Amino acid sequence: MESSDREKIAKLAEWLKESSNIVFFGGAGVSTESGIPDFRSQDGIYNQKYEYPPETIISHSFFVRNTEEFYRFYRDRMVYQNAKPNAAHMALMRLEKQGKLKAVITQNIDGLHQEAGSREVLELHGSIMRNTCMKCGKKYGLDAIVNAPDPVPRCSCGGIIKPDVVLYEESLDDAVMDKALRYIENADMLIIGGTSLVVYPAAGLVRYYNGRKLVLINKSATSQDGNADLAIHAKIGEVLSQAVPE
Ligand code: ZN
Repeated sequence: MESSDREKIAKLAEWLKESSNIVFFGGAGVSTESGIPDFRSQDGIYNQKYEYPPETIISHSFFVRNTEEFYRFYRDRMVYQNAKPNAAHMALMRLEKQGKLKAVITQNIDGLHQEAGSREVLELHGSIMRNTCMKCGKKYGLDAIVNAPDPVPRCSCGGIIKPDVVLYEESLDDAVMDKALRYIENADMLIIGGTSLVVYPAAGLVRYYNGRKLVLINKSATSQDGNADLAIHAKIGEVLSQAVPE
């Protein structure tokens, strides 16, 4: 870690101290430090195993047409049962316990913020932990998906169980989105981590922020760094655990 990073983290810690209405917005980079790869990042193994790009497989129409293939990809690339919360999740949990952090807004679907103990977590893209029978509406946990006897998990009524995860071609939950906007509007400090900020909906959400403490934490530089009041390029777990000591 460079000395300029240390100065920036000191600045971050100072802002955290003087703020009382902090909101965190997190992208895939928060989960990668728990060993969960961004499913959009393609690698050789992936290319050999699947005939379609992830954006196609993780779409509503593909789920309907080719449910079995959807679930093959989903179990393989989107469910990481052994993943544990990392230093970033734990620091955010502490910040909420201190009464400073009001909400975590996340694009991740892994449920790790809740596992770390965070309470107010807005999951813009849903969660792998919640699943619903498409026929009768019965709710299921992750176990019903992972340990299903057949490739396509089925409800006791015979209906197909679908993850409560927002697929491509599906719209985000309006109620969750509105709540997220309200938190951001009222925040005196907004921390954005693990996302380049250029992807929808992150880019749009930032515009609702009215304060002067917009912090961007990302491993690499982003095109939005110039719009941030503080941009830190380092691992988010390291940054947050130093700024929010135990
Ligand atoms: Zn059912």
